[in-house]
Amino acid sequence: MLTADGIRAALDGLLERRTDQTRLTSMGAGSDDLDDGRAYLAATVEGGWHVPTWPSAHGGRDASVAENQLIGSVLREYVVPDLYPFAIGLGMVGPALLAHGTAEQQERWLRPIASGAEIWCQMFSEPEAGSDLANVALSAERDGDVWRLGGQKTWTSRAMWSKWAICLARTDPEQPKHKGLTMFVIAMDAHGVDVRPLRQMNNDAHFSEVFVDDAVVSDAWRVGDVGEGWRVAMTILSHERAGAGSRGGGDGAKRGSRVPTWIADLAALGALDDPVGSHTVRRDEAMSIYAADMASRWTAQRAADEARSGGSPGPAGSGAKLRTVSSYKRRAFLANRAAGAAGMLEDGHGYIETVTAPSMSIRGGTDEIQRNILGERVLGLPGEPRLDRDVPWRESRKGLL
Ligand SMILES: Cc1cc2nc3c(=O)[nH]c(=O)nc-3n(C[C@H](O)[C@H](O)[C@H](O)COP(=O)(O)OP(=O)(O)OC[C@H]3O[C@@H](n4cnc5c(N)ncnc54)[C@H](O)[C@@H]3O)c2cc1C
Repeated sequence: MLTADGIRAALDGLLERRTDQTRLTSMGAGSDDLDDGRAYLAATVEGGWHVPTWPSAHGGRDASVAENQLIGSVLREYVVPDLYPFAIGLGMVGPALLAHGTAEQQERWLRPIASGAEIWCQMFSEPEAGSDLANVALSAERDGDVWRLGGQKTWTSRAMWSKWAICLARTDPEQPKHKGLTMFVIAMDAHGVDVRPLRQMNNDAHFSEVFVDDAVVSDAWRVGDVGEGWRVAMTILSHERAGAGSRGGGDGAKRGSRVPTWIADLAALGALDDPVGSHTVRRDEAMSIYAADMASRWTAQRAADEARSGGSPGPAGSGAKLRTVSSYKRRAFLANRAAGAAGMLEDGHGYIETVTAPSMSIRGGTDEIQRNILGERVLGLPGEPRLDRDVPWRESRKGLL
């Protein structure tokens, strides 16, 4: 039987333990480092330690949900780098291939994801298809055994690092918008794929516009049936919201330490010293964030476990995303305020997190959209008016509705 000490015995030979000095970025904020994540994944793939619930043949270890939880909690004692560059493959494409992919597709793509050898990106959003994702216009036309893709994607995180993309395309414009979509895998170095990086206000340039001009994709790289793209997309998005791939990075504490590193950092800054005045307010705020953070973590864990045991996470992922984002923002803003004027400098305490924080409410579906999902699917409130739902997509595109 798998025990915490057994896991430690295996991991001690592979990874470094966290110390009070360990500091890690999360969500790729301000860091373009691929090497640490790649080394970590290469070290853990043999034992299937990073994606334990995946089949052992594909870089996992066939673990149950309970075993996976135990491994996750022990992994927090080790230096697990920021896996942001690898997160689409690990957290979204991998589970989608396990749910919808063929045996050949699983064989080809899963292990290189688990080992960090191949990076993936997610080509969903377009200039006119963000919150209204089903409005995707990038077209795929069948030509014998291949498909020819053309159109534009935008906000494609990690595109310039990626070998592969999971790409939502319109295969039948005569069908209503959700029905004429199909999911493909596209090679980012294919002829006709042009990646143009965009710079964000935190100085990151790891998301891009992608222009696709008559790129050829084999029918063997179609994920799911023709016309089933929306179903595959929902699997991917619900995993994204549930944060199933988010293990790694962040502010964990070393084993036995009860103080998370972000609070230790605030204390070291002298920001919590004074028992009266603004420092007391900060102490209260830090404790309130800590409590909300723990509740959010457990909820996110529950949503991720649901995802692992039941295949596809439900609306719980939307609640988990809202709480995780709120917690990230409050921590970032508190840390940055505590640094005073120095917090305005690029290397100031909490600066990178503060200028990264607004994007958290947009990526993976905006806060407003998550609230709509909770309103409709959890609270049972009346749905939004959806006039274009049942008409051919080509008609709704003409603005006739
Ligand atoms: C850092 C970052 C990384 C990203 N990475 C990726 C990626 O890798 N791949 C990818 O495909 N996409 C990615 N995205 C895109 C992201 O999913 C979209 O930006 C997001 O879904 C919102 O779409 P939009 O930008 O078109 O805004 P819009 O949909 O135009 O929304 C504009 C505003 O209107 C609000 N709104 C829209 N519809 C409703 C409604 N029905 N009810 C209430 N309010 C509404 C929105 O909440 C928002 O405030 C990324 C975005 C960011 C910021």
